[in-house]
Amino acid sequence: MKTSKEMLLETVSKEIQQDAVSAPSTLQTQGRSSLDHWSPAILLERAAYLRKMAQYGDGAASETLKDYSQHSAMLLVRNRDGEAEVHEGFADVFYVLEGRATLQTGGTVQGARIVAPGETRGDAIEGGRRQELRAGDIAHVPAGEPHRMLVPGDRTVACFVLKIQDEPKTNKEL
Ligand SMILES: [Zn+2]
Repeated sequence: MKTSKEMLLETVSKEIQQDAVSAPSTLQTQGRSSLDHWSPAILLERAAYLRKMAQYGDGAASETLKDYSQHSAMLLVRNRDGEAEVHEGFADVFYVLEGRATLQTGGTVQGARIVAPGETRGDAIEGGRRQELRAGDIAHVPAGEPHRMLVPGDRTVACFVLKIQDEPKTNKEL
């Protein structure tokens, strides 16, 4: 009489043998890749389209390239100053594809209004830090930090943006 543990071991080893027989080759595994790849040429082509949309719209246009479970990849074009924003649930990573902008972070949001749970918008930011951004620059804005993209004059900026699910650091962690 086999013990239940012996029977379980027997079943598991049978399954392992079956898996070994039916395991796909490396080539077949590559065929199932879910890689997402965007070349600069493709992103700039899409950005050129968004720039036209921004021109005829309210000065900004964006496109979600892909939504993932904890983050999403976006393309953003601005030819005017953005609103001040704070989002408690997401961090922003900006990668500047072309153009220039000034990223204002920290400080206090002026004319703050809550537009959705954890989402605040405002007219401006008082104080904080101003960082010039140029093509090739990368900037990370943590969840819960006020930020605003300034695009003065006839400048435009095109950014690849990763919005990553996150939460503001507690005072203890700071
Ligand atoms: Zn943001």
